[in-house]
Amino acid sequence: MALYAELHRHLGGSVVPRVLWRYFQRHSAELISRFAEYSEFEEFYTRPRNTLDEYLELHTLVESVQTVETLPYFIYRLLRGAYIFENLAYLELRYTPYLRTPAHLSQSQRIEKMAEIVEVVGSASKLSEYPIVTSQILCMHTRLPYEVNKAIVDLAAQSRHNVCAIDVAGGDSYYAERMEEWIGLYDYARSLGINTTGHLYETTAGCYPQLLPYLMRIGHGIQIPLLYPELLPDLARRNQCLEVCPTTYLKTGTLEDIRQLKTVFDRCFDAGVDIAICTDNAGLHNVRLPFEYENLLTYDIINFDQLQACQDAAFRHAFAWPYSQRPVSLLNGLLNPQPARVLAMRD
Ligand SMILES: [Zn+2]
Repeated sequence: MALYAELHRHLGGSVVPRVLWRYFQRHSAELISRFAEYSEFEEFYTRPRNTLDEYLELHTLVESVQTVETLPYFIYRLLRGAYIFENLAYLELRYTPYLRTPAHLSQSQRIEKMAEIVEVVGSASKLSEYPIVTSQILCMHTRLPYEVNKAIVDLAAQSRHNVCAIDVAGGDSYYAERMEEWIGLYDYARSLGINTTGHLYETTAGCYPQLLPYLMRIGHGIQIPLLYPELLPDLARRNQCLEVCPTTYLKTGTLEDIRQLKTVFDRCFDAGVDIAICTDNAGLHNVRLPFEYENLLTYDIINFDQLQACQDAAFRHAFAWPYSQRPVSLLNGLLNPQPARVLAMRD
């Protein structure tokens, strides 16, 4: 049994189509009345989009039903699936807490409500029947004003038992106009000792080298090895890890063929830059983490040794994995106690 770490998964995109369909059937049937049957809904929900913007629009559908009341329902099913079908030992779940607060409230009221959302997500993620180490990454968002994004950083600082890092999301082509703001927010987060990742270099319109020094990990970052490989030695020196989510680039029209990722992996391995393989939106894609691994092997993008190197990197770069080793060493002691006894006798 192999156990995995997932570093890049959005709460909004983590709901698999069947669970969302059942939820709509039970609670908001009008939202799915245009679909005659489940297969039509699944086709609509998971089909590739032409652009990252079009793709991100789908998140709003799920955000609208993920409220403080319904989050435990979705998170329970998410963790159940992650434990049973994905063998996850570790999961960082990311989302923008402001977008889960009631839209009819004022901005300051919504900011106040964010702490409750973080608490609800935190307690819903701790399930004794599906034991996975979980933590949250709070996403600042390009659609939100400075005050809200700053409040998200402050909330991360106040919620360290539930939150391990901050991120910026909402489409990497929109950062340019507010670049000083993003740099200021990341600088502020680092000054508070908060871990950082950020959606960056995902598309060709999202390449901002000035943000790179503030990030401990890079959400996607695939355009660095593809277009700016000269930056890779800097990444290696800063020990920055790329969170590569293979299926996303096909769903967003960023890549035409998954085999284009071979250049990404080859150049990163050559330069000593770590890659964690992630799902991004496992529900929206209907592709779970083990299938992301298997696809990369099937298309000869990586080999088994490289896959294991990436799986190790995921645990090494996890912001809240509490152990110094990955689970294989822990399981060895548990499931195969013979070597441990031999060692004990030698002492
Ligand atoms: Zn993402």
